[in-house]
Amino acid sequence: MTFKLACGDVMPGCSARFEGTDRDQLMGQVAGHAANAHGISDITPEIRAAIEDKISVAA
Ligand SMILES: [Zn+2]
Repeated sequence: MTFKLACGDVMPGCSARFEGTDRDQLMGQVAGHAANAHGISDITPEIRAAIEDKISVAA
């Protein structure tokens, strides 16, 4: 399973893309990127839900 996220689906204008082998690993990458690139150091439940809504899963 590959979990994928295009940051631009959550943060319009951002071209970063992420892939992880599971959802938690992907969220870890996204959290680091959100802090570094977007100044979002606190992933609230609302932000997490918005991100998870955009995650696509490939077999
Ligand atoms: Zn981004």
